Amino acid sequence: MKSYDIIVIGAGIAGASVAAHLAASRRVAVLEMENRPGVHSTGRSAASFEPNYGPPPMLAFTRASERFFLEPPKGFAEVPLLTPRETLFLVTDGQEEACERLIAKAVDLGELSERAAREIFPVLREGHVKRVLLDPNTGDLDVDLIHQGYLRLLRERGGEIFTDHQVKGLLYRDWKWQVATPHGIYTSPVIVNASGAWADTVAKLGGVAPVGLQPKRRSIGVVPVADHNTAEWPLVTDAGETWYCKPQSGKLIVSSADATPVDPHDAYADDMAIATGIDRMMQATTLTVDRLDHSWGGLRSFVRDGHPVVGFAPDAEGFFWLAGQGGYGIQSSPALSETAAAIILGNPLPDGVVAEGLDLNDISPRRLAYK
Ligand SMILES: Cc1cc2nc3c(=O)[nH]c(=O)nc-3n(C[C@H](O)[C@H](O)[C@H](O)COP(=O)(O)OP(=O)(O)OC[C@H]3O[C@@H](n4cnc5c(N)ncnc54)[C@H](O)[C@@H]3O)c2cc1C
Repeated sequence: MKSYDIIVIGAGIAGASVAAHLAASRRVAVLEMENRPGVHSTGRSAASFEPNYGPPPMLAFTRASERFFLEPPKGFAEVPLLTPRETLFLVTDGQEEACERLIAKAVDLGELSERAAREIFPVLREGHVKRVLLDPNTGDLDVDLIHQGYLRLLRERGGEIFTDHQVKGLLYRDWKWQVATPHGIYTSPVIVNASGAWADTVAKLGGVAPVGLQPKRRSIGVVPVADHNTAEWPLVTDAGETWYCKPQSGKLIVSSADATPVDPHDAYADDMAIATGIDRMMQATTLTVDRLDHSWGGLRSFVRDGHPVVGFAPDAEGFFWLAGQGGYGIQSSPALSETAAAIILGNPLPDGVVAEGLDLNDISPRRLAYK
């Protein structure tokens, strides 16, 4: 049996980032079922930073994370992790209410004329929009650099990562969790459940009440764009979030923003969902798409109020939830992981999230019905 102060289950962005913080003062092991970190949601995101996107706690975490992305600490990364890219919200017939909701919760949102919108997105179809809103504070994240940065920090601080270590059993005995994997048993008084879409499955292994996590599949297609230099184009979506596109390496990624409830699994793209996204993009633009370069699917996992679940389980000693990051788990990861580590260690909350008005009750597992 190998013994640690804290065992983190899952080496996606959530597990890697919280483990890196904890390893500064504790002996930490991360157990990952795949043969490398980042195989599931973390490696499949759209890599966007949108400080007006998400429920209130996620807005707080994301806004409190911006400085870290723009000026990463020395040694974490030598270049910014966030590159500015504006977001255009197209408001079409029937989306007036969605538009008002967006304006009500957003900070720094501006309005553009159709003509001004076409200056930054030249393929916008004439007469398609009723209004256009612009978020100037969004950008592209370098997800791999962020994830690898946290994994490196974890190792530098003496933390260990064990891949091909699927957690198959959890037993709390003599004030310690015994964590069973195909390669033996690992023990620690505290475990952090950062297993993404599998978080309820993992909880049930230990007899811990699930929080009602629902993974939802999202599909993304990558399409070539002839005759246009797309590099400087904004991310374009509509007020109802029924599709979006954004440039990536000279091509466009396109999605119908699908959110299909599924069981946790190794997700793949839904061809129909991608075709729908391409169709909606062609209706809004003068672009013609006749070829799909490649596609992928991934899981965004939510509990019923859409907030993340961060805190010790009320029904199990030393079992910490770090789940339900939905579609915002990368953009919120610096502040969210710092907050989670502070709760685990009994330290004060980071100033940044306090300044953003985070209320711990909004993310605690206690808010979810326990039976
Ligand atoms: C298509 C798509 C687009 C997205 N776009 C964005 C975006 O633009 N911006 C943004 O901020 N977020 C985005 N997200 C959301 C973001 O990717 C997730 O919120 C984030 O990656 C969740 O991280 P995680 O570490 O919780 O999950 P994961 O990355 O899935 O990590 C969980 C890990 O736990 C492991 N695991 C599971 N069960 C076990 C077990 N029993 N034993 C050991 N290990 C186990 C898994 O193998 C996995 O590696 C997007 C997601 C998708 C799918």
